[in-house]
Amino acid sequence: MTDNFDLEHIWHPYTSMTQPLPTFKVKRAYGATIELDDGRTLIDGMSSWWCAIHGYNHPELNQAVTDQLQNMSHIMFGGLTHDPAIELGKILLKITPPSLDKIFYADSGSVAVEVALKMAVQFWTAQGQPQKTNFITTRSGYHGDTWNAMSVCDPVTGMHQIFGTSLPNRLFVAAPQTKFQEEWNPQDIAELEQAIQQNHEKLAALIIEPIVQGAGGMRFYHPEYLRQAKALCEKYHLLLIFDEIATGFGRTGKLFAWEHAQVEPDIMCLGKGLTGGYMTLSATLTTKHVAETISRGEAGVFMHGPTFMANPLACAVALKSTQLLIEQDWQANIKRIEQQLSQHLVPLNELDYVADVRVLGAIGVVELTFNVDMKTLQQQFVDRGIWIRPFGKLVYVMPPYVITQQELSDLLEQLVEVVKTLQGAH
Ligand code: PMP
Repeated sequence: MTDNFDLEHIWHPYTSMTQPLPTFKVKRAYGATIELDDGRTLIDGMSSWWCAIHGYNHPELNQAVTDQLQNMSHIMFGGLTHDPAIELGKILLKITPPSLDKIFYADSGSVAVEVALKMAVQFWTAQGQPQKTNFITTRSGYHGDTWNAMSVCDPVTGMHQIFGTSLPNRLFVAAPQTKFQEEWNPQDIAELEQAIQQNHEKLAALIIEPIVQGAGGMRFYHPEYLRQAKALCEKYHLLLIFDEIATGFGRTGKLFAWEHAQVEPDIMCLGKGLTGGYMTLSATLTTKHVAETISRGEAGVFMHGPTFMANPLACAVALKSTQLLIEQDWQANIKRIEQQLSQHLVPLNELDYVADVRVLGAIGVVELTFNVDMKTLQQQFVDRGIWIRPFGKLVYVMPPYVITQQELSDLLEQLVEVVKTLQGAH
């Protein structure tokens, strides 16, 4: 099944080149279906890591790309502009927190995070506080794989051990403990409060994934944490950065996760589902105040400008994807997926090796008491016609929103069967 050239020469995410994990060759994908080279089809449970919200090969998204291709696939953004970037910007400002007013387009989620961190530092420098250069964050977070993004990822499950002292030292506090539906425990904010109180003079910002901590553990926490965090940021003069790269575009049941808490950040990062998973694009949004302060600073400009900034093809498909999403009753659809996820997954709680089952919006997570053998489990899923990529103790799904009720039932029935076979595997 695995292609030999691929195996010998091409790196895959987080994979050894001497002992690579098997890969499955994909011929095409459409709707919620992934078709392998050998003709087998898999029901997609991953949306290609949160991205493909409308499924694959969507006729309207294809059309948006084709149309834009006739005009230009790319043009530099220095000194030039274009409708796809402008129209996308208009729609993004309509659907994100009202206080956000300025948009920086970049190439990927990690770069959006880099941009957000740079904005925060430039903001404080421009305010005459050049000592405010560090960042505080919670454990179990994930913000990307570039250098500074990596530095604010969870220091244990992230890559800190591998990169050691080459990574800048950030301040970490415990991950929020009160779960999304639980009663708020006021103690939950104490560590953050103390850390900010003691270190605010050198802190530029708090960066956090609102409500759902994704790749750092698929944890859903209480909205009150964000409300209190915001108050602390205001009190001690820190900017608040929300990384909505995974949570954005309806995934958690709200269009963006900040809405669960009604807390507006100073800077917000978007990516992944922004283009409906068609190609890479991200956006870092900020307030007029932050943008104008940066622009008044000594540098007078914001110092970032990627080659593929605001790539027109990506902006055109992002515009169409966002229109498609908000023009439909996406809330009812996410509710449907949420109910089905709960109905199938919650009973797994009864297994003694299932530590927790949690569902929020179109995200379903089964946390086991032991680390899974990804290679074996992946093969079992594929043999049963479903595409799920577990990691660590987590078997989780976030299907494309176009998945039908039948496809989702099939996907979840197979997932449940596989989890049940793990009895005795630990
Ligand atoms: N932030 C979050 C919350 C993410 O989930 C991810 C991607 N998993 C990133 C940032 C990085 O995005 P990218 O992989 O596009 O660089």
